[in-house]
Amino acid sequence: HNNTFDYPIHPAEMDWGTHYPAIENPKPTVLDIGCGFGGLTIALATLLPKHLILGLEIRAKVTEYVRLRILAHRKENPGKYENASVLRSNTMKLMPHFFEKGSLEKIFFCFPDPHFKKKNHPRRIISDRLLSEYAYFLKPGQGKLYCITDVEDLHNWHVKHCRAHPLFRELSKDEMDKDSCVKAMYSETEEGKKVERAGTNKYYAVFERIESGTED
Ligand code: SAM
Repeated sequence: HNNTFDYPIHPAEMDWGTHYPAIENPKPTVLDIGCGFGGLTIALATLLPKHLILGLEIRAKVTEYVRLRILAHRKENPGKYENASVLRSNTMKLMPHFFEKGSLEKIFFCFPDPHFKKKNHPRRIISDRLLSEYAYFLKPGQGKLYCITDVEDLHNWHVKHCRAHPLFRELSKDEMDKDSCVKAMYSETEEGKKVERAGTNKYYAVFERIESGTED
């Protein structure tokens, strides 16, 4: 059914085994939120072989496409891509059902829907409320939030809200340059490739979940 989502009551009840059958006691640590056709999810699987990558996508058909794409990669490359999977979900509502506090290393937001009109800004996937959720899931002193968009106004929104949030610190240009995940998010998503062909700008930023504020 298209408008219902399966989700566990509590993250401890989530069966990740079906997502990562080759891995013992699997739990995703890297999320590609709104993964679309999965280019980044798949690229991260080989870039971060020790992490479990999960693409999250709200559209059923697109999710199924990515699922089959990952299965094909596994088949063609035995032993590889076992650490990548995809899940259909509405991340704006359901993340607390899937992920535990401090369990995530990286969360990617690549070319999210811009929701241009002011009255639709509450639908944006980065907001004060959701940033507090993302901070809760990310490992203090380590976890990172990545965002990229071709919409300058949306980038300014991302940066403004992340900078204002007490639990995030912005990475310097130097720090971003050293991070191979930045290159991947810049070039590996389908939307990013489209922007590349159009020859327009991509704006991005990375924020670290700071150490303090870990108390409940
Ligand atoms: N990240 C991909 C890329 O860069 O190629 C896709 C970008 S596309 C413009 C935005 C994606 O976010 C769409 O595939 C859309 O279905 C998905 N999406 C929108 N709202 C979502 C939500 N609440 N939860 C999960 N995915 C969502």
